[in-house]
Order: sequence, then C-alpha cells, then structure tokens
Amino acid sequence: MDITTRLYLLDLVRQAQQATAAHAAAVRAAARAAKAAAQARARVDELARQHPTAQDPEQTSESTDELDEALEDYADCLNRLQAAKRKVARTFLAARAANRTLGTTYAQHARGRTRAASRDEVAAGLLDELADVPLELMDAAHAILVQSSAGKDSLVQLHRIATRAEKAGCLHKVVVIHIDLGEESEWPGVRELAQRQAERYGLRFHVLRAEGGLLGLVEKRGMWPDAARRLCTATLKRDVANKLLRQLAAELGLDEQAVILNCMGIRAAESPARSKKQRLAIDMRTSANNRMVLTWHPIFEMKDREVWQEIATHGLEYHPVYDALIPRLSCVFCVLAPFDVLVRAARLCWVLGLPLPARYRDLEAKIGHRFKQSHSLAEVYAEAERLESEEGPLVWNRGDAIRQHLGDGVADDYLARLALAA
Ligand code: SF4
Repeated sequence: MDITTRLYLLDLVRQAQQATAAHAAAVRAAARAAKAAAQARARVDELARQHPTAQDPEQTSESTDELDEALEDYADCLNRLQAAKRKVARTFLAARAANRTLGTTYAQHARGRTRAASRDEVAAGLLDELADVPLELMDAAHAILVQSSAGKDSLVQLHRIATRAEKAGCLHKVVVIHIDLGEESEWPGVRELAQRQAERYGLRFHVLRAEGGLLGLVEKRGMWPDAARRLCTATLKRDVANKLLRQLAAELGLDEQAVILNCMGIRAAESPARSKKQRLAIDMRTSANNRMVLTWHPIFEMKDREVWQEIATHGLEYHPVYDALIPRLSCVFCVLAPFDVLVRAARLCWVLGLPLPARYRDLEAKIGHRFKQSHSLAEVYAEAERLESEEGPLVWNRGDAIRQHLGDGVADDYLARLALAA
C-alpha cells in the first residue's frame, strides 16, 4: 500500500471517528434535553395542582401567570428535545455511513493483510506503518511543525527531524515553534536557547506567547493545576499550539487536504501516562476536512541515557539547569516535579538571583490552595533554606549533566566539541 493510500484511509478513519463522536455527543445532548423536559413537565403539574386552591383573585392571577410561564418553558423544552432527537437520527446515519465507507474502502486496499477487527486496529496498523517510514512521511507532509521547549528531549527530536528532513529534501517544510510562558514561569534563557537550537539547522523559528504563564493562570483560577487536571499544559501550551496549527493549514491555501506533522519530544520512558501514547497519532481535535494533523513523537522509544548520548555525540547545546541536576527543563516550579527537585529549583533560583521562590510561596498563601497534596511550597521553601544553611549555595560545572549520565570522558569530549563550535 502506498503512502497516499495510507493517508487517505487515515482520513476515512478520522471522518468515521469524528462522526461517531458527534453521534455520541448528540445522544448525550438528547438525554439532557429529555431530563430538562421532564423537569419542566413536573413543574407544570405541580403548579396545576396548586392553581385551583388559590382563593384571592390577585393570587389567582399570579398563579395563572406562573403556570403560563411554566407551560411556555415546557413547550420550549419539548421543541429542544425534538431537535435533539432529530440530531441523534442525523448523526447516527452519518456515523454509520462514514464507518461503512471506511470498512469497504479498507477492504479493497487491504487484500492479503491480517484482518483488522476494529476501526482502532485499522488506525493503529496504518499509523505504525507510517511511523516506520519517516522520510516518506515527511515527503508526503505539507508542513512539519516541531514543538520545542528547548529541553533535552525537544533538542534531540529537533536534531532527528532536521537531519531526516534534510535527507528527504524537506527542510523548507519545517517550522520550529516555542511557547514562551514568561520569566515568572520559566528559567532564564530558554527562549533564546530554543532559537539557537533551531538556527543551527537553518530552520524557521516562531515564538508563541502564553499570556500570564503559570502564575497568571493560578492567580486567575485561585488554584494550582495537578497531574489529573493539567490545565496548565492544556491552556498554556496545547490550545496555543492548536491555534497555530489551524492558522498554518489555512495559510497553506491548498485545494487538497493539508497534511501537517506536529512533532513533539515525548518519550514513553518519562511516565506511565506517556508510555500509553503512540509514536504517531491522528490529532482528532485539530484535524478537519481541510487538514489532517498527525502528532508525531519521533523519539518516543528513546531512554534517558540514549538522549544524553545523542546530545553528547552531536555536540548539541542544552540548557545549563541540567548541570545543576534539575532533570527537566520545565516551569521552575512545575506541578509535576517531585519534592527534592522543587527544593533544588528554589536553591538554584537563589544562586541565579531570581525572586521566584518567595513569589510562588506567597501566592500559595494568598490563594489558600496547597501546591500539591503531598507538599506545600512553604515546605519546599523551608527545606531549601535548611539545606542552604547546612551546605551553602549550589555549585555545579558545565557538563555535569553528561558527567552524571555518561561519565567524565564523554563530558570532556562534549565540552571540547562545544568549544570548537563556538
Ligand atoms: S512544565 Fe509543569 S507546570 Fe509548567 S505547564 Fe508543564 S506541567 Fe504545567
């Protein structure tokens, strides 16, 4: 099966999935409308029961008005319920048609293949095949977006995408985007580093700003996000990037459906939640008839050590906070970071002269919402102060992150390579 057919079939999967989801949403809406109608009906019955008991003419007039209003409301609810039921029927037919089209088209193209039992299996098989041929995939795409936080995983995925894109003759399609959360959320120099990393390969670089950053979000909502409700990632990163994806597809102005690869440096080894993701997936949220957005995780299977090895081998420039043994280039006080990393982050802020530890601790006190169930920022601050008085300020050297993961010799080679490139 050629790549065009695979992409065509994937779009049929998308249509079937979106039609099925639209039907499920219509069923839920109809259930809500039925409930509202039942409540409105109960209100009418209740008022009708009360109405004949009113003796006073003024009271009788008030009761009649109330009953008329309730009857009007009930009639509105019935109309909404009828409309909701019609939508259920419409979406059911559309979902059935889309799923049938997928089934018959797939059967025509899939002769000789192992039979796929479900739509998800069809999608998983096609996506796996595409992930196995990255150069062809890039060649078929109209645009390749690389989301870069400037962290070590973003850095290695960028290196892989750029070198593969060059091989496939697709460098002109690649755009690197960095979402800047602002100086009250992130470590200094992150945006500039992301730009240097992109410029190393001569790639276009765009900065998107997430207004207010993490602190702004928390101040507005009066609570900290957590692992289960990562509003920070959704609001500050995903929504901002999705807006750009839609814009990009519109700017391409194609007569055919635009195929956009949205690349991210996510790895299975990072967390159990991430290990459940796939190397390549259809982004149902942003895909539509005029654009097929495929989320691609080009370094999904890499282990931590392999990431550092690739950085060392190719002399890629990473952020110095890793040398202070902060394992992720996330927000300074990331809601997902463990206690000891937060303590270290507070101490690193003090060395760098950043006012953030007190700023975050005070915000926690102001909103009265604990940073995490297991520990507050006040506790982080107190522990950082205790260690500071026991051990003195943090000390680190350039190359310590590589030294820690790969040993002294590799770190020395890396530093020599960086010095040569400077
Ligand atoms: S780095 Fe952490 S705190 Fe910042 S947006 Fe991501 S999950 Fe939220």
